Amino acid sequence: ATMPPLLSAIATAGRHGVLVKSAVAMERLGETDHVAFDKTGTLTEGAPRVARVRGDASVLALAAAAESDSEHPLARAVMTAAQERGLRVPLATDFVSVPGQGVRAVVDGRTVEVRRAAGDAHADTAVEVVVDGEIRAVLELTDRLREGAPEAVAALTGLTGTAPALLTGDNAGAARRVADAVGISDVRPGLLPEHKAEAVRDGERAGRRVLFVGDGVNDAPALAAAHAGIAMGRAGSDLALETADAVVVRDELAAVPAVIALSRRARRLVV
Ligand code: ADP
Ligand code: MG
Repeated sequence: ATMPPLLSAIATAGRHGVLVKSAVAMERLGETDHVAFDKTGTLTEGAPRVARVRGDASVLALAAAAESDSEHPLARAVMTAAQERGLRVPLATDFVSVPGQGVRAVVDGRTVEVRRAAGDAHADTAVEVVVDGEIRAVLELTDRLREGAPEAVAALTGLTGTAPALLTGDNAGAARRVADAVGISDVRPGLLPEHKAEAVRDGERAGRRVLFVGDGVNDAPALAAAHAGIAMGRAGSDLALETADAVVVRDELAAVPAVIALSRRARRLVV
């Protein structure tokens, strides 16, 4: 007996480094007609670096302490920047993490926040270091585009026939820069994780079947709201990996249009 087309497609996807959860998931992927991307860790590598410190660079030590409990890619960048400068990072307590916004902790008796910088006049990701309510420094972070990102966006635009969207918690300037580099014009910056899910639901209400592609950090609500969700696997959180219909284990964006095309071919064979 031959394998049913959807199962055969799952096997093929697996050989290309994409783990598709079920035959139903495989089917839903090919039903989508619109794509929404997360930015950090999805269109970019998710390994940002602190490129510039404006203000008091010594507060990097406090910032690194406050970030030491966070798994966000920006947290790793802040800790690396402090280490590179040879700063001694004190211990922190009372960690609070606000998804899509930043972190707060108590360091040496002071309240230290590292959070999304206000304003949209930034060309990069900008976070401010706030000590006892006072902004002491602004960190500018850059992240490289993922290899093959423009090609993957172009391929998905061709497959769906609709212009993809970029949904991000980052500021408008940083979002626009990445969007321009990959060929996306529909940019929605400053979105909290729940707002990303709401944007996906808006698309669904407008009659679209939305494919959400995220890296898994804070993306579980949007992955759950979408008709189908794909998580880039390397940095993804367990929750997002559970919520997604497929996980790109090999971490290559080219796998996203490839798996959509596979699903469509398989669905044509299912009668
Ligand atoms: P994206 O939508 O680009 O994946 P997130 O939703 O994870 O980004 O975060 C949105 C913004 O919130 C970041 O650009 C940053 O300004 C701020 N932020 C989130 N987590 C942290 C953190 N751990 N430290 C500092 N800033 C953070
Ligand atoms: Mg992200």
